[in-house]
Amino acid sequence: MASMAQLMFDEFGQPFIVMREQENQKRMTGVEAVKSHILAARAVAGTLRTSLGPRGLDKMLVSPDGDVTITNDGATIMEKMDVQHHVARLMVELSKSQDDEIGDGTTGVVVLAGALLEESERLIDRGIHPIKVADGFDLACKKALETLDAISDRFPVEDRERLVETAQTSLGSKIVNRSCRQFAEIAVDAVLSVADIDKKDVNFEMIKVEGKIGGRLEDTVLVKGIIIDKTMSHPQMPKELKDAKVAILTCPFEPPKPKTKHKLDITSTEDFQKLREYERETFETMIKQVKDSGATLAICQWGFDDEANHLLQANDLPAVRWVGGPEIELLAIATNARIVPRFSELTEAKLGTAGLVREITFGTAKDRMLSIEQCPNNKAVTIFVRGGNKMIIDEAKRALHDALCVIRNLVRDSRIVYGGGSAELACAIEVAKEADKIEGIEQYAFRAFADALESIPMALAENSGLAQIDALSDLKAKQIETKNPHLGVDAVFAGTNDMKQQKVIETLLSKREQISLATQVVRMILKIDDVRVPDDERS
Ligand code: ADP
Repeated sequence: MASMAQLMFDEFGQPFIVMREQENQKRMTGVEAVKSHILAARAVAGTLRTSLGPRGLDKMLVSPDGDVTITNDGATIMEKMDVQHHVARLMVELSKSQDDEIGDGTTGVVVLAGALLEESERLIDRGIHPIKVADGFDLACKKALETLDAISDRFPVEDRERLVETAQTSLGSKIVNRSCRQFAEIAVDAVLSVADIDKKDVNFEMIKVEGKIGGRLEDTVLVKGIIIDKTMSHPQMPKELKDAKVAILTCPFEPPKPKTKHKLDITSTEDFQKLREYERETFETMIKQVKDSGATLAICQWGFDDEANHLLQANDLPAVRWVGGPEIELLAIATNARIVPRFSELTEAKLGTAGLVREITFGTAKDRMLSIEQCPNNKAVTIFVRGGNKMIIDEAKRALHDALCVIRNLVRDSRIVYGGGSAELACAIEVAKEADKIEGIEQYAFRAFADALESIPMALAENSGLAQIDALSDLKAKQIETKNPHLGVDAVFAGTNDMKQQKVIETLLSKREQISLATQVVRMILKIDDVRVPDDERS
């Protein structure tokens, strides 16, 4: 900002600041600023409302270079929307925070924030100061979180079947819902294979999600090992290796090159022959070094030319080239190998082991990949997603990511609440009750907060084609009458509103985060009362 402001002194020596280019800025203050922010943020939040829940609709997003993404994952929609407005971007960040912290509930959090903003606009119109609204929301949020804790249940994390059901809830609203059960099982098995149940920790680095176009979603598999999208470097190398000793190399298979620019003058045939001879010798030494260490498979981060490839094949040393950095690390962890940056450093102790290394083929023989299985540290797993096109695979990967996150969150904290808007409705009822006990102006904010919470079951009902107001009032009456906080919107027409029976589960962690993040961001927006933007950015 140094160029914008300049410190000057008046004739009495008093300092004052001159803002340059002030005439080029647009300034908004007070209620005008708050209302314009609310409008911008609500506009963004509004786009997600129809995507919420098992009957939520998908969005198609086309990037400037024509890439198409079809998704109903809140975080992805927000990220790809290319929002320019400074306040509306807070909504994008909101969804991202939920995604980073929890991984699930990214649509819900934005819809709730949108509803809170709508309510606050109404309160501001009635003459209540934004700060009062913000403070009231803060207190109401605390009450809602208390209620969530009170209505939460413990989840038996050791029960695989129950975990699968939970993953199914998360996947139910996604493109993969056709093979929901299968994907849920894959997600649960993947997390359980890498989870440390005692320490309540899951190392996500150990789960790799790979996709390859071709086949159907149902062909998706979980491989207890690592799949890399590579083949043996020579077609005549063996397609299957048992008890392989793996050398992982990050040095290129080539004769040493001077580090700075160089020029080589070859003036005679002998010189050329000598150079060729030198190259061949270097390759042979390298191969010998690898073989001497006892390795039966070389995995290289870099490539090697056809000559080296031929020599490798002739020396019975199967090799894989151009293996990416993250895969190299995964392989090293799984096989207990050390990553070796120089041929001279290769020793037997640095080799990894794998019970089975094989090339697997899919559909046509061209689709081949390398699978490294039965590794000593066989915690690393790969989920291999198949699908008709890139869009389906990408969306399936996103859905799996959400399901993996849900299971991971359960391993971390086994408390749950029930979905279908039942938890939100139960909180709304409690918050509204609390409002009656408050004498100050905050009671209006409390009631508004309760109304905003109800917007989640309302949106679920609307998206399922139900008459939303009727459905919600029925539901609310039933919850109050039966004191059962598990009653939610029967979005899939299963015949019961009891979400415990329907097994629609959400983690307490996720729901708590949704409510507190949405409240925080709304409070932030309500507290900005002065904004200056360059005149050309008044969007
Ligand atoms: P998010 O990105 O926020 O997870 P989703 O589109 O996955 O959004 O929708 C999640 C919402 O849908 C949650 O409120 C959840 O309780 C609800 N939901 C999921 N499955 C069902 C179901 N079978 N019946 C009713 N509600 C459901």
